[in-house]
Amino acid sequence: VTYFPAADRYADMIYRRAGRSGLKLPAISLGLWHNFGDGRPADRQRDIVRRAFDLGVTHFDLANNYGPPPGSAETNFGRILDADFRAHRDEMIISTKAGYTMWDGPYGDWGSRKYLVSSLDQSLARLGLDYVDVFYHHRPDPETPLEETMTALDAIVRSGKALYVGISNYKSAQAAKAAEILRELGTPLLIHQPSYSILNRWIEHDRLLDTLADVGAGCIAFSPLQQGLLTDRYLTGIPDDSRIRTSVFLNESALDDKTLGRLHALNDIAKRRGQTLAQLALVWALRDERMTSLIIGASSVQQLENNVAALGNPALDQSELDEIDATVLE
Ligand code: NDP
Repeated sequence: VTYFPAADRYADMIYRRAGRSGLKLPAISLGLWHNFGDGRPADRQRDIVRRAFDLGVTHFDLANNYGPPPGSAETNFGRILDADFRAHRDEMIISTKAGYTMWDGPYGDWGSRKYLVSSLDQSLARLGLDYVDVFYHHRPDPETPLEETMTALDAIVRSGKALYVGISNYKSAQAAKAAEILRELGTPLLIHQPSYSILNRWIEHDRLLDTLADVGAGCIAFSPLQQGLLTDRYLTGIPDDSRIRTSVFLNESALDDKTLGRLHALNDIAKRRGQTLAQLALVWALRDERMTSLIIGASSVQQLENNVAALGNPALDQSELDEIDATVLE
């Protein structure tokens, strides 16, 4: 059936500016790390992407290795783009990345110019696109000089294959250096993509938001639901279709008694506020205006809808923030 996007798709979504750039992103973005590999039904994948766009989610986050198998999320998303979104490319922000293992040999991993440029060419072919909006270096490379990696990002923008560049999983000090090199090259760092959730506070200890504000870059957090732990998914057992049961990236060991106790306590706070645990986790992670967006994953349209609806929930007051901290930081 032909897809006609909802006419009111921009009515309710909140868009936040990425640092001091000209680009705004939806406060909730959709990530395709899981749920878009070859093992997931194509019609469900399509329905999730369509519903996201109908809800004002203009940003879709990918990487070369997303699947499984690696590359398949880009191929599958490319098919959806081709079938449904040809007329809407200029309404979408599509990102991809290179930095983790993608192909055999010395040129399919880490941060060399050789890897980044050829990986992006492969991603564009899978996606069926001429350019992506944001291209990321996916993780810091301890061996390649930062100058080489950043010069490669700058060259990629000049070649027209990406409009903006980002970095992911960099600590504050490395991020500041990367931003300085990019600024000198004339391609400002758009955004940094770290992990962040109620259960994962490293960016607070690292003062990453302060660093990014100093250099004018935005911040987009991944796994704000801690891969599904910060939802109602595991409160009464481990469902067969859950990430713990279907992915190598989340193990049952993550659900120890202490964590389960915390999840129940957080769920009680959420219930008191009339929202789901997932919604509480998202409102919490967006409480600082410098957080440009959160990249959520969704294995169903309902999960996506529940998450986007978090934006209609009231902000957390100081006593609720203190209570959340007391629950998880003992
Ligand atoms: P989340 O923390 O949002 O976890 C998503 C999972 O949580 C879903 O697959 C689903 O699990 C469950 N879930 C989501 N919403 C709900 C809901 N409302 N109710 C119940 N369960 C829910 O994020 P991800 O870990 O998926 O990461 C998001 C994106 O971030 C990735 O797709 C990727 O784009 C990016 N990312 C980037 C990384 C990097 O190194 N730069 C690393 C990791 C992610 P289930 O499948 O069990 O239903």
